[in-house]
Parts: sequence; C-alpha cells; structure tokens
Amino acid sequence: MSFSQLQWGVRGGRLIKQLLNGPQAVAFVPALALAAFWFGGEGLLVIVALGLPMLMFFSSPPAQTTAPISHGFLPELPIKNLEQHLEQILGDARSTGAVTACYLLHLDGPFPTAAAGEELRSAYLRNLRSCLRQSDLAGWTNGNTLVVAMAPNRRLDLDAAIQAARRFQTTLEDPVAAGGRLWHVSVCVGLAISTRLASHTDGTDMLNAAQLALQEARQNGASAIRTYSAKRHKTQQKSALPPSEAVAALENGGIRPWYQPQLCTETGRISGLEALARWSHPTRGLIAPAEFLPALQRGAALSRLGDCILYHACRDLAQWDKAGLNLPQVGVNFSEDELADPRLIERVRTTLDKFGLSPDRLRIEVTENVALSGAVSDAARSVTALSKLGCKIDLDDFGTGATALTALQNINVDRLKIDRSFVRRVDRDEAQRRLLAAILGMAERLGIETLAEGVESHGEHALVAQLGCTHVQGFGIARPMPGAQIPDWVNGQQARLAKLPRLGLVRRS
Ligand code: C2E
Ligand code: CA
Ligand code: CA
Repeated sequence: MSFSQLQWGVRGGRLIKQLLNGPQAVAFVPALALAAFWFGGEGLLVIVALGLPMLMFFSSPPAQTTAPISHGFLPELPIKNLEQHLEQILGDARSTGAVTACYLLHLDGPFPTAAAGEELRSAYLRNLRSCLRQSDLAGWTNGNTLVVAMAPNRRLDLDAAIQAARRFQTTLEDPVAAGGRLWHVSVCVGLAISTRLASHTDGTDMLNAAQLALQEARQNGASAIRTYSAKRHKTQQKSALPPSEAVAALENGGIRPWYQPQLCTETGRISGLEALARWSHPTRGLIAPAEFLPALQRGAALSRLGDCILYHACRDLAQWDKAGLNLPQVGVNFSEDELADPRLIERVRTTLDKFGLSPDRLRIEVTENVALSGAVSDAARSVTALSKLGCKIDLDDFGTGATALTALQNINVDRLKIDRSFVRRVDRDEAQRRLLAAILGMAERLGIETLAEGVESHGEHALVAQLGCTHVQGFGIARPMPGAQIPDWVNGQQARLAKLPRLGLVRRS
C-alpha cells in the first residue's frame, strides 16, 4: 500500500468515526432502519436497529471520569489553587517515580493596558500552550509572569527541563501582534524541578523555589534562565536583611562601590564609570542594592551609604589618575532623601578636595522624582547647588516617571540617562526606534547629552550610536566590576580600540 493510499485509508476511517460520533448520527439511525426494512425485510431491520447503536457505543471515545485539567487560568486565580496543583503533581511524581517541574516566565517589555493588553496576554498564553502537552498547566500569575506546571513525566531530567525552558523562552520572545502593532518582550525563566527539591517539599515551597530562581535570572539581565538549587538558594531563603546588619556592613567595609564603564559612541573611548553599591556578605555572597537599600532605608542609613560610595569613588578615581588611566569621570547615585540633606554639598566639596579632584570629575545621578516638587524642594535645591559647584548632573532612568519633562525645567541637567525600556530591542522594533529617535532629537535640540542605559547587544549598541546617542552603558559593554579589575578592563578596551581599522589609513592599491 502506498503512503497516499494509507493516508486516504486513515482519513476515511476518521470520517466514519466522526459520522458515528457526532450528533448527525442520531439522524441516520431511522433512515438506515427504514432502508434496511425496505431492502432486506424484518431480519435486516432487527440487525440494523440493534447493531447500529452498539457500533456507535463502541466507537465513541471513553467517557471522562474526572474533570479535565484546567489548561490555563485567569490572572485572578488564587495562588492557593496553583500551590495545591503543584502539591498534587509533586505527590503524583513521587509515587510513580516520575519528575515534574514548575516554571515562572517573566516577560520584560512594554505592555499596553486595557483591551490591547488583554489581547496581548491571551496571545502570549496561546503561544506558550502551543509548546505544552494537554496535561501540563499554564496561565498568568499576577503582573507579567506566566507559570507552567509540568505534568509528571518519566523522561524529564534537568537537561530536558532546561531545553523546555529555552523552547518556552524562544516562543514567547517571538513578536506578537496586538492593538495594531507588534510587541516584543525578553523573557527570564526561573525553574524548579522536583529532582532538586527536598523530599518534604510542598506546593508552596516549589513555587517559592521557582520564584527564587526567577529572581536570580532577572538579576542576570535579559533572557536568563536559572534553575533552583537547594544548596545555592538556601541562604537566600532566610529572613529579610536586618537593618542593623546592613548598617554594620557599611561601617566595617562590607559595602563598596563596583564600577560599570560608560563609552563615548563617537570615539569608543571610556567616558566614565558609574559607581554601584555592592555588599559582599560573608554567608550570602554578593548582594545587589535592590536587596539591601530597603534595609538601609529602614535603618535611616541611606546618607551613610552615599558618603561611603562617594568617598571610595573619589579615592579610586584619584588612584587611577596616579596610575595614568585617564578616566574622565565617576558617577554616584543619590536618592531623593540624601539630596534633601542640606549638608550634602559640603560633604561633596570636602571629599573632592581631600582627593584633589575638580568638581567636574563627579557626576551626580538623580531621578526625576527629585524635580517633582518643583525647583524649590530641598532635593532640587541641592542639585542646583551641586551643579553650581561644577559637578555634572545625570537624570537617571529618564522616561520612566511621569515628570520627565518637568524635571528638565526644574533642575539643570547635563545628561539624560535613557532608561533601558527605550533601548531594549531597538534594533529590531521599528516603534521603539522611532520613540528613541524622538527622545534623542529632543535632547539634541535642548543641548543635553544622552546615555543609553542597559545596552545588552551589539545590535542595540550600533543602533543607539547611529541614532546619535552620545554615550552607552550596559552588560553588552561590561558588567559592573570591583575597582581592582578596572585597570585591566581599561587597558583591554584601549587594546581593542587600537586594533580597530581607522578611516583614512586604508589605501586603495
Ligand atoms: P540604576 O542607577 O539605574 O543602575 C543601573 C542598574 O542597571 C544597575 O543595577 C546595573 O547593574 C544594571 N544594569 C547595567 N547594565 C545593564 C544591562 O545591560 N541590563 C540590565 N538588565 N541591567 C543592567 P544595580 O547595580 O543592581 O542597581 C540597581 C539600582 O540601585 C540602581 O539603578 C540605583 O538606583 C540603585 N543604587 C545602586 N547603587 C546605589 C548607591 O550607591 N546609592 C543609591 N542611593 N542607590 C544606588
Ligand atoms: Ca544610576
Ligand atoms: Ca538607571
């Protein structure tokens, strides 16, 4: 039998089965009984009248004894139900020797609200479902995070689970049309697989484990995948950082600045470094500011953090000057509360003097909130005073607050640090490109310099430079690093630049 004959046979069989199972079958029974009586008499009538219902019975699919598993749920589904479901599949997996996994997929990107938002969310869920089996569960949790609870499977292991995570990620990162335009997201994945969980783990613990893995993935930038490991995450699961411990770390040198380089797009040279606070914790490892800033705030020690970072940043810059590294500037982040302290100006002046640095070597990074209450707020007054002193002012996270343009009226800004949300995938998204071009055009007309934050790919780097953005910073250039690594990085960058072909030196033969 040829392949096409086989296909026709299969299709014919399927058609007969559909005819026998659908509601139309009921209409055929009297017609067939009448035809049987007409052509074959009473004997055939009895056979058809009894045989046909029996044939329908045996060809129909088995009745479902349990309710089908809900294949996706609404955002408002209580988290308890998800935990119960995870608990059930964990139990099933353990009793059958199979493996199960829970994935949290965080979609990072601009999300529309209202109707287009719903359309987009449904489209993402549909795309995710296309990668799953009927028995797997998928749905939105709150915010921009999707969850997948994978049904127990004997063939699932860590490699297969990570491969599945990559498949989900690639599928969700495909552009999706909603509300008349295309949307792009980058997706971080946190994954908890039952083989890496303790034997007493319940549904709540499994969800927590996936959450910890997701948290770690998101700290690693766009499109990261992390798997929960009891050993690695054990320390993180402990209670929130106590303010007293954070304050003590400030005093004993546990918190220090790390530095992330910034490049000039025109020359490729280093135009500065941003000082970002890091806590080297003796048991928890390296802690990012998102985790310890709240503790310092509770301990009313934010201004001490400012002093500590300012001191070390100025000291390091002076040392790099001595070593001949030629680094133009260092940027320090100050919160609104720190800026509201009128003694800050004096502290900045004294620190600069101590290390023999002119004020224009220091960039003060402030957010739009500082200008929210107008030019006369304490914080805005400090910014004006720092600017008069000669420090450069960077407006951080530009575009994320409602006050973006008011900020430009209320404080003297030297440079806009354009938030990563306007930079992400700019090389691949036309609408994103237009928005960034508009921001850069406005800055140029106002005579303000620009820096694109969070540049992760070569494509993003090339496009922001092409659009006229004057500086770039991001993982694509370098991740934040300890001060001790800066000299090597700077020398490496100079060597990379020296290797680049120079225009004008190329001669035609
Ligand atoms: P920020 O000032 O917007 O700093 C940029 C953040 O983006 C840093 O996170 C940096 O590591 C991260 N980043 C850099 N390049 C990329 C990239 O390509 N992709 C992605 N996804 N992220 C990138 P970090 O160091 O965790 O700091 C977070 C925030 O904490 C900072 O945001 C700043 O607001 C605050 N912060 C950091 N250090 C200090 C400090 O000394 N004082 C105060 N008051 N706040 C600080
Ligand atoms: Ca900053
Ligand atoms: Ca920023």
